Amino acid sequence: MAHKSKEHPPIGIDLGTTYSCVGVWQHDRVEIIANDQGNRTTPSCVAFTNTERHVGDAAKNQIDMNPTNTIFTVKRLIGRRFSDPSVQNDIKLWPFAVVKGPGDKPQIVVQHKGEEKKMYPEEISSMILSKMKEIAEAYLDCPVKNAVVTVPAYFNDAQRRATKDASAIAGLNVTRIMDEPTAAAVAYGFGKISSDSAEKKLFVFDLGGGTFDVSLLAVKNGVFEVKATAGDTHLGGEDFDDRLVNHFIDEFKRKYDEDISKSPKALRRLRSSCERAKRILSFSTHTTVEIESLYNGIDFTSNISQARFEELNMDLFKKCIELIERCLKDANTDKASVDFVVLVGGSTRIPKVQQLLSDFFDGRQISKGINPDEAVAYGATVQATILSGQGSKEVQDLVVLDVTPLSLGIEVVGGVMSVVVPRNTTIPTRQEKVFTTTRDNETNVCFEVYEGERAQTKDNYLVGEFDLSGIAPAPRGVPKFDVCFDIDANGILNVSAQDRTSGLRNNITVTNEEARLSSEVIGKIIRDAERYRAQDEECRRNYESKNSLEKYAYNMRNAMRNRNTTNTLSFTTKMMIEEAIQETLIWVDDNQFPDVSESESRMEELKRICAAIDYLQI
Ligand code: ADP
Ligand code: MG
Repeated sequence: MAHKSKEHPPIGIDLGTTYSCVGVWQHDRVEIIANDQGNRTTPSCVAFTNTERHVGDAAKNQIDMNPTNTIFTVKRLIGRRFSDPSVQNDIKLWPFAVVKGPGDKPQIVVQHKGEEKKMYPEEISSMILSKMKEIAEAYLDCPVKNAVVTVPAYFNDAQRRATKDASAIAGLNVTRIMDEPTAAAVAYGFGKISSDSAEKKLFVFDLGGGTFDVSLLAVKNGVFEVKATAGDTHLGGEDFDDRLVNHFIDEFKRKYDEDISKSPKALRRLRSSCERAKRILSFSTHTTVEIESLYNGIDFTSNISQARFEELNMDLFKKCIELIERCLKDANTDKASVDFVVLVGGSTRIPKVQQLLSDFFDGRQISKGINPDEAVAYGATVQATILSGQGSKEVQDLVVLDVTPLSLGIEVVGGVMSVVVPRNTTIPTRQEKVFTTTRDNETNVCFEVYEGERAQTKDNYLVGEFDLSGIAPAPRGVPKFDVCFDIDANGILNVSAQDRTSGLRNNITVTNEEARLSSEVIGKIIRDAERYRAQDEECRRNYESKNSLEKYAYNMRNAMRNRNTTNTLSFTTKMMIEEAIQETLIWVDDNQFPDVSESESRMEELKRICAAIDYLQI
């Protein structure tokens, strides 16, 4: 086998809400690996019994017997707080219990080996990730360590971090957390077009088991940027299964005058058969559902056609198309300017969905050739291979870069945003900037980190803050702080500040889940920034001219404190200069946002008065 060496072949994992998928780079191409049941996707499902723990198909297969201890769709919980309204809504729908744990974290309650156990979502996800790792190891016959794991584009920092933690618990070293639509775009070979300097637009349509996500991506010079996302977090294959279930419940009522919905067990068995029937209807015009002793000893057999299935779900399919329109509108993009449409998610195998999509995009090129339920894992595997330095030259040439969606910076005097990392900077990145104090003898400085495109921090979003205390008292402008923004390949931000004189240091890593923003909010901020561009420009110019005036005044004041300079000046000149400096500094303090012309004329005046020292210093 190609990977007998101990180099730990890298893998790509699509950790899905309902199904997960794993791939490895082998024989110069991506192999999607089948699990022990021969299936190329594995249910994201974990079950606990009195004697053991099941993961994947084994867990899903016993759900009928053990509903309260079979955990599914845990991705809806990861990195969220218990009090999050979306968590509260989901809990109502689940047969298993979720309680509030320490720090408002949700915990799943299960009975395992006769004991009650509480588990964090990360632990459940880690069991699924372990299973995917094992599937790869069994196939490769060697240990696996490095992996790229994917998350939805709208996942915030806390959700990404929690996914990374889950991977670490599973014994995986995550070389990158990658956005699902980007992974899918890479799978379909869009990495190749990405080196073009002309921007291309990709529309990613991901209809999975429980969620529907659409994203508009721009690809240029090897950089993938998610421009807008939309979707419905509760729309997918399971809803189509539901429609079939209801259809058969009605039929059963008509035929036998019995209500199956009274029996949870019968319902779950019917649901499993419906999912199977639905999959068959993607390839065949009709199929049969047969369940022995479904209810009250009655064996159930029925036929269903593709046309009937489509009719039962037509409103849901149409809803998908409406959401595409919303995403394009948010991104201010016309559907005609979309270059490619990428299909992702098991439910896009449904022929009607493909047809509606193709009609909507007027027959635009719709990606084919890779199984939509494997595309995300496929792209993740390509990325894992690039990061490991393995793979052919063709793969290595395919750069997959991520960028910062918004500018990041620090608040400076007057509530002004001083940008450290501009928007669209390729990550990972590390950028430094020097800051100073704004008041005399400050011993404690607070660094407020903001995200956004506006000139003033009040229009941007506070990401986090930290203090540096115990600084030696000094006149304002004298202390120097090296502030460093470090963003790793997963988009996780670390900000540190160090006082040059004392070496004192402090930092923050952004963990607050509300701190980083969703793609929708990002889209809004960028649009706002466009709208207020002129206003912000003016604000920046005003601030800069005031700032240079202030700086100049301080430089002159420092020069005046230098004996060599002042010795040669007459007493009257000294007095005049000192007064002018003092007056300027008071004016600077009193005027938060003076007009640029005012600052400039003051600057001229001060320069004229200080000409004597300027002359001496040269
Ligand atoms: P996730 O949403 O977890 O990312 P997938 O993209 O793998 O999951 O999608 C899973 C959904 O796709 C399930 O609801 C499954 O029933 C559905 N599905 C898989 N294959 C087919 C098919 N051939 N036809 C219709 N639906 C399918
Ligand atoms: Mg998916």
